[in-house]
Amino acid sequence: MAQFEDMLTIRQSELDALRRHGEETYPYECCGVMLGRTEGEERVVEAVLRAGNTRVDSPHNRYHIDPRELVRIQRESRERGLDIVGFYHSHPDHPARWSQTDLAEAHWIGCSYVITGVEQGRAAVTNSFLLEGTGEEDKRFVDEPIRVLAAEAAY
Ligand SMILES: [Zn+2]
Repeated sequence: MAQFEDMLTIRQSELDALRRHGEETYPYECCGVMLGRTEGEERVVEAVLRAGNTRVDSPHNRYHIDPRELVRIQRESRERGLDIVGFYHSHPDHPARWSQTDLAEAHWIGCSYVITGVEQGRAAVTNSFLLEGTGEEDKRFVDEPIRVLAAEAAY
C-alpha cells in the first residue's frame, strides 16, 4: 500500500510571489489565498491571490480577509476550475510558527495555512500547517512539508 503524506506542493514562482508580498507589506502583515487542486493528501497550488489586510486595529500581528473579498475569490476559483486549498500570511519580525490567534481565526479544515517570516523586510523561513479536525472544537494545526517545484514546472 502506498503511504500518502500531507504535503503542500507549490511552484518556486508562486512561493516567491507570496514571500515577496510579505516583504512589500513589511512591517505589516500580508495575507492571501492559494488556489489549486487536492490530490489525496496533497494540496497542489496553481495560483496565489493577494488579499487586502482589513485589520486596522493591529495590522502587524493580526490578519483578516474581508468576507466579501473571499466570496469574490471563491467565485474566481470556480471559474478557473480550482479550489481554495490554503491561505497565507506573514509574520513581520516573528518566527514562521502559528499563534493561538492564527488557530482561532482558521476555519477551513483540510486547508494549508502558510506562514512566512519576514525579518527586517526580508522574507525568511516559510512553513506550512495543515488544519486538521472535524470542526471548531477539535481543530488543530499540523506541520506539513512544502514541496517546491521548479518555477516553470507543469504538474
Ligand atoms: Zn499569524
